Amino acid sequence: CFISIEGTEGVGKSTNVAFIRQFVADKGISLRLTREPGGTPLAEEIRELLLKPREEIVSDDAEILLVFAARAQHVDRVIKPALANGEWILSDRFTDATFAYQGAGRGISWDRIQQLEQYVLADLRPDLTILLDLPVEVGMARVMQRGAPDRFEQEKLAFFDKVRQGYHRRLRAEPDRFALIDATQSLDHVQQQIAQALTEKLGL
Ligand code: C5P
Repeated sequence: CFISIEGTEGVGKSTNVAFIRQFVADKGISLRLTREPGGTPLAEEIRELLLKPREEIVSDDAEILLVFAARAQHVDRVIKPALANGEWILSDRFTDATFAYQGAGRGISWDRIQQLEQYVLADLRPDLTILLDLPVEVGMARVMQRGAPDRFEQEKLAFFDKVRQGYHRRLRAEPDRFALIDATQSLDHVQQQIAQALTEKLGL
């Protein structure tokens, strides 16, 4: 099975990645943890480029092509081999993030992203996508307590609100693939719902 986890800044992705890993391991299943942008040495180098100050990346097209270049390598070297081997994969972000950040956020058309998705992924999709959802101002408040914001985190709340709406649009397009989790709830409640989604949607 292939699981992805998504959300805007400060929704609690990292904490819940650790929870999912443990939950799946407790069922005796080996799960490989990975992330995007990143997940292979080359893709991690591309991640470094993407996290540089925004002024150094001149064009939105360059940004999205770097995202997909990293993804192509990640899919080819990590995700497909692991799935072929019967392993489970949990990716901290995947293509929905591109629709949300580069699409809804930066304004690249859905159609253009779908063409890249088709080229790089063909029909590969996560079996389950956990979307942690939070009003952006709540997420940013959490991020500010965590330490210095990176270049994406500094951008305006309006941008992140567009990103959030982008995730919702993905959810509406493919509701069966998603589990929408209200991340304003206590961590206990969030994790109960994640566990329920893993049980119901993946038969754990
Ligand atoms: O998942 P994580 O928060 O580590 O991602 C690092 C940064 O990359 C995030 O701040 C996110 O805003 C940004 N990002 C992006 N486009 C993507 C994926 C991530 O702008 N497709």
